[in-house]
Amino acid sequence: MTKFADLNLSPKVLKAIDEAGYETPTPIQAGAIPHALEGRDVLGIAQTGTGKTASFTLPMITMLARGRARARMPRSLVLCPTRELAAQVAENFDTYAKHVKLTKALLIGGVSFKEQEALIDKGVDVLIATPGRLLDHFERGKLILSDVKVMVVDEADRMLDMGFIPDIERIFGLTPFTRQTLFFSATMAAEIERITNTFLSNPARIEVARQATASETIEQSVVMIKATRRDRADSEKRAVLRAVIDGEGERLTNAIIFCNRKVDVDIVAKSLKKYGYDAAPIHGDLDQSQRTRTLDGFRNGELKILVASDVAARGLDVPSVSHVINFDVPGHAEDYVHRIGRTGRAGREGKAVTLCNTRDEKNLEDVEHLIQKEIPLAENPIQQEAAPEAETQEEAPKKSSRSRSRSKKPDQPQKQENKAPEAPKPAAEPVKSEEPSKPRDKSRDSRDRDRGGKRDNVVGMGDHMPSFIAMSFEDRRAG
Ligand code: AMP
Repeated sequence: MTKFADLNLSPKVLKAIDEAGYETPTPIQAGAIPHALEGRDVLGIAQTGTGKTASFTLPMITMLARGRARARMPRSLVLCPTRELAAQVAENFDTYAKHVKLTKALLIGGVSFKEQEALIDKGVDVLIATPGRLLDHFERGKLILSDVKVMVVDEADRMLDMGFIPDIERIFGLTPFTRQTLFFSATMAAEIERITNTFLSNPARIEVARQATASETIEQSVVMIKATRRDRADSEKRAVLRAVIDGEGERLTNAIIFCNRKVDVDIVAKSLKKYGYDAAPIHGDLDQSQRTRTLDGFRNGELKILVASDVAARGLDVPSVSHVINFDVPGHAEDYVHRIGRTGRAGREGKAVTLCNTRDEKNLEDVEHLIQKEIPLAENPIQQEAAPEAETQEEAPKKSSRSRSRSKKPDQPQKQENKAPEAPKPAAEPVKSEEPSKPRDKSRDSRDRDRGGKRDNVVGMGDHMPSFIAMSFEDRRAG
């Protein structure tokens, strides 16, 4: 197995790694660091949680230890899609460069230009920035990019989602042709492929996980929810959420709950607080100081439950999240992989529970199609079927369960639904633990039930076919 000491990193960096408690390099680190130190361009296909940040910061620190920055001319540039991710990368530099003298500046929105300009004026070795803010500084004439020796693009697929690709292309054009480029993306969309073909020169390509694979250390499950009434769907879902949290008990040390819409982030956080849970929201509409406060609280363990939107949580590194709960199944299947990647990071165990109501079922199919696995079904902790009409779940949560009504396995043609019952097919390969899942034939039962059929009185005649049906018309006339 590769050791950090085999990677040609400087002794001061190795010391910092040792102090951080890392024993062995992760696969992206073992793959990317030697090439980066040789000065080659690197194309790293890796999702967050794989240790990719250190795979570019460690060689950068080693390389930048020689030489000094001139005023307004940073020697390296790291581009990140969000402020939080940029701040996180900056923290990584602080950790790994603690025995090396390096200057850095963080250029993100929500911080005054003046402060940032003062830093740039002094000269910085590492400039970490979101693309928009970087170009703002450039346009103010305060920044010269012609001395950039190493440029990192982190989370390029997120940049694409957020519409930053034109900015990235422009920034590439402002840096010297001879720069070294370290480029990271979780997936390789066609547009990302185009950018790498245009701006990277013969890169070492390191792919550490298959596209859209979830970490094997994450135990995944899905809880099917069927509302008793349409106007109660949301409050009933929140009741299921509370029951899931309660059911995890002490195993849930901290959790991120994802909602598809910002408005739900606020509602869910508020509702949890009302019920006495330690929860706070984070999404793009909150001001920066509030976001930072919430995140810091969550990181240092003062806040137990973070309710988040996808954009706000993008690339967040919170190493020890025990649970991810998807309050909704994400509309973009890839976000599922990103979301659950907040837990089970760097080889730790984690649990991801997804709530799925009727509206979410199509999204769930897409997710399962993408990850090529059926997510094991967990019991709905609230029994809904028997809920009397007059009660809301918020008031009377312990009712009967309605489970999975999903229609097909990802690789099965839709048509199979119309067939007569047959022996249940073996379950798809289990994602990890079998513990929270229900047997497949149970889900099959509920599927049939939810399609409106009763298993006992439908479909085909089996052994009980009346004999006249088997006779041909000729026979009957003759008889
Ligand atoms: P990243 O993918 O860069 O967001 O890193 C995910 C987490 O893994 C971070 O909390 C890092 O501190 C941690 N990490 C990075 N490299 C290693 C390593 N070699 N061993 C253990 N943990 C690591």
